[in-house]
Amino acid sequence: MKIAVYPGSFDPVTKGHLDIIQRASALVDKLVVGVLNNNAKTPLFSAEERVNMIKDVTGDLKNVQVEAFSGLSVDFVRKCNAGFIVRGLRAVTDFEYELQMAQTNRSMDRGVDTIFFTTELNYAYISSTIVKEVAWYGGDISGFVPRKVAEHVYRKIHDRKRQD
Ligand code: ADP
Repeated sequence: MKIAVYPGSFDPVTKGHLDIIQRASALVDKLVVGVLNNNAKTPLFSAEERVNMIKDVTGDLKNVQVEAFSGLSVDFVRKCNAGFIVRGLRAVTDFEYELQMAQTNRSMDRGVDTIFFTTELNYAYISSTIVKEVAWYGGDISGFVPRKVAEHVYRKIHDRKRQD
């Protein structure tokens, strides 16, 4: 059975991420989307909220599983009995970091290979950071994230502004 893990922050999941999830899930028997619960970053959404949003928009993909994890990606990959890490490449600016990560992960575990998907051109400029920034200033994010996700983002930002 071919199992791959797609790790990331997904804060929140975008149409670019979804495109990678769809294409990667068609290649493997099982794709585990791993939502990184990273203490170093302060995310807008909790790991649980991010997991639930991804589950919500990938419900039609039967071989996709979504789980939160913390720690090293390779450890999570081993736990999932996976042999592959999936990552997306938007532009050349992603390349240096992604190459370094892939080489580090492979040096830690020779049983793990990283597969890169190049982004669909119309999603290449989308990032979770841009989505949050546009939403914060009241812009339209419907082109960047699925409708259900957009509703969560606006609600969360509304709550954040009230707290500040
Ligand atoms: P991380 O914090 O690990 O970079 P992200 O959620 O930002 O997590 O991204 C996870 C993966 O998805 C990375 O490989 C990133 O390059 C890729 N990715 C991010 N945005 C897009 C997009 N618009 N299209 C394709 N891939 C993307």
